[in-house]
Amino acid sequence: MLADRTTLTQFLIEERRRHPGASGEFNGLILDVALACKAISREVASGALTGVLGGNATTNVQGETQKKLDVIANDVFLRANEWGGHLAGMVSEELEAPYPIPAKYPKGSYLLAFDPLDGSSNIDVNVAVGSIFSILRAPNPGADAAAGDFLQPGHQQVCAGYAIYGPSTMLVLTVGNGVHGFTLDPLLGEFFLTHPGIGIPVTTSEFAINASNSRFWEPAVTRYVEECLAGKSGPRGKDFNMRWIASLVAETHRVLMRGGVFLYPRDTREPPQPGRLRLLYEANPIAFIVEQAGGRASTGRERVLDTVPEALHQRIGLVFGSREEVARIEQYHRDHNLREFDAPLFASRGLFRAAI
Ligand code: MN
Ligand code: MN
Repeated sequence: MLADRTTLTQFLIEERRRHPGASGEFNGLILDVALACKAISREVASGALTGVLGGNATTNVQGETQKKLDVIANDVFLRANEWGGHLAGMVSEELEAPYPIPAKYPKGSYLLAFDPLDGSSNIDVNVAVGSIFSILRAPNPGADAAAGDFLQPGHQQVCAGYAIYGPSTMLVLTVGNGVHGFTLDPLLGEFFLTHPGIGIPVTTSEFAINASNSRFWEPAVTRYVEECLAGKSGPRGKDFNMRWIASLVAETHRVLMRGGVFLYPRDTREPPQPGRLRLLYEANPIAFIVEQAGGRASTGRERVLDTVPEALHQRIGLVFGSREEVARIEQYHRDHNLREFDAPLFASRGLFRAAI
């Protein structure tokens, strides 16, 4: 069986041979990340047998209750990646400040940002969860990374990926040369290339959004969803299916495998927090993967990868998937902005609405 399968290690070495300037340091880093994902996969798979399910009494920097597995997975990521000499620092969903590389280890030329366990609210109901990671170049290689070093727009990522812990465990990653999926053989403990060159279909009739937030949506999002729901008899002239797993990794994986569009848009629920997903270790890596697979990722207003981050745990609206659908949603945002600009007093959110 080894004869006709490529391991992750072989894939990375062959990629490097194609780019003679590349250093092996980068491959070592990806393999350390992959080891962390294998360890988390094992923890997740053992479930209630090893007592890892359920909540901690703690909350993270975002004020969310931590699950036991959030803490375990965070620790696995730190331990697997701190010693190798590849990194100048790490940022995690579970840590307020960047994690400094311990003094006993050398510091390297990359930065790692990660969500150690994505979708962890699903963990107790045995629904697919995952890990998400993003690798950037350190502005000061060999020195401790400052928080500001991580605030780079997503188009500067050199690698992004996620692991999905579903019926099978997969690692999906891009190093800027397409998107490739690897499936874990748990007996060998190896990731094998099973999904080379993943491409998102250009059109789709499937969308994913949390409709319980609909009263907070902006007009462009309401219009888009209403048109999908109207189906064959509406302006789109075709029926749509809806999906919602509430696990970003699982939603992303479905979109990569069979197309679709995912929306967690900016809304009016918490005005100081535009959107729900985090830019550095959720939106950016997913956007890089989606674009490399031929899709599109947007805040609704601009390309996610061009957004300049202002804070480590910054949240942002995220719309991604099949190119044509995302372009349509961006167009609807432009339409509604224009309308409000053209006739602010008479627009749907204008001063005179109550009097009409
Ligand atoms: Mn997450
Ligand atoms: Mn998480």
